[in-house]
Amino acid sequence: MSSISSFLTEDNPCAEEACETLFRGLNGACSKETSIRRHEPLAKRTTLRVGGSADVYVEPATVHDLCQALRLCREAGVHWMLLGRGSNLLVRDGGVRGVVICLAGGEFVGVKSMGPMLSAGAGARLKHIAVEARRGGISGLEFLEGIPGSVGGSLRMNAGAMGSATFDCLESVRAMDREGLVAVHTASALDPGYRHCGFFDDHIALSAEFRGRLAPMAEIEARMRALSSKRWESQPAAPSAGCIFKNPASIPAGKLIQELGLKGTRVGGAQISEMHGNFFVNDGSAKARDVLSLIELVRERALNERQIHLQTEVQIVGEEESPCE
Ligand SMILES: Cc1cc2nc3c(=O)[nH]c(=O)nc-3n(C[C@H](O)[C@H](O)[C@H](O)COP(=O)(O)OP(=O)(O)OC[C@H]3O[C@@H](n4cnc5c(N)ncnc54)[C@H](O)[C@@H]3O)c2cc1C
Repeated sequence: MSSISSFLTEDNPCAEEACETLFRGLNGACSKETSIRRHEPLAKRTTLRVGGSADVYVEPATVHDLCQALRLCREAGVHWMLLGRGSNLLVRDGGVRGVVICLAGGEFVGVKSMGPMLSAGAGARLKHIAVEARRGGISGLEFLEGIPGSVGGSLRMNAGAMGSATFDCLESVRAMDREGLVAVHTASALDPGYRHCGFFDDHIALSAEFRGRLAPMAEIEARMRALSSKRWESQPAAPSAGCIFKNPASIPAGKLIQELGLKGTRVGGAQISEMHGNFFVNDGSAKARDVLSLIELVRERALNERQIHLQTEVQIVGEEESPCE
């Protein structure tokens, strides 16, 4: 699901025709509130602002429509992948073959707090969670304020900042499997790791319950402000996908890149930020291939000069651009 490699399978040799059929099927099976588009540019849906288009893009309004979309993809043998707010994704220039499903509207964006508990749809923005938690006097979720993702993406990535991570404050998740079955899972059953939770390789988060502790609103506000200014002192404002690499055990990736003398290195319109070595920024003209070249360059130098294997934190999806494009 997360690494949608190829849309063309032996059972499905004609991608364009299958996409058209699927597109018509989706329009017939889903409610009119569900948004379904062909050839949707993904650059505008990712914070790095690079990459090609999705063959079919679906924004289901309801769990039922999501279930229909999965069913039709399954029947047509078409691959699909999930998109949150696109803040941890690098889409290759050839775009994504198959279907991109994004839970950014309808039933999936509600946020509600009661006592120390907060429930949120998978498409809700993390900023919205932090703001609602502050309004409800719930402390412990302040760190989510500056992470530009959705609840679903933060569960998949176990996103974290300033010493806290998503699973630290998670009670349970409502999730759908590939066949469309929905169940509630307690956080302790999901076995998250550092910037990863394998459960979401084949489950779609629909909504989540978080638990904080009740605290005075002024205290929460002060903590949010402190975290926010710390973030903006160390992080570039230009389009990026946040940290490109996971931190190796021995050294933070940003420090390693700085020590290798690579800050400021540029390929095409992509540059390693002068401000933070683990952020690659787009000057507005970057292609995905520029960012990928920078990633390779850094990995090679880290391996050759420091014997460190860097792993990407950013998820790389989609196809290479074909030579004639
Ligand atoms: C400026 C900037 C700052 C950042 N700071 C931080 C930070 O401090 N800490 C941090 O951890 N990250 C940070 N990030 C990275 C990113 O914001 C997080 O990883 C975030 O959780 C990704 O959420 P998203 O909704 O954008 O997911 P996407 O990037 O859209 O997707 C990420 C993964 O989640 C999967 N996914 C999306 N929705 C669902 C769902 N409903 N169910 C299952 N899987 C799903 C996708 O298929 C994909 O595999 C930063 C990024 C930027 C651009």
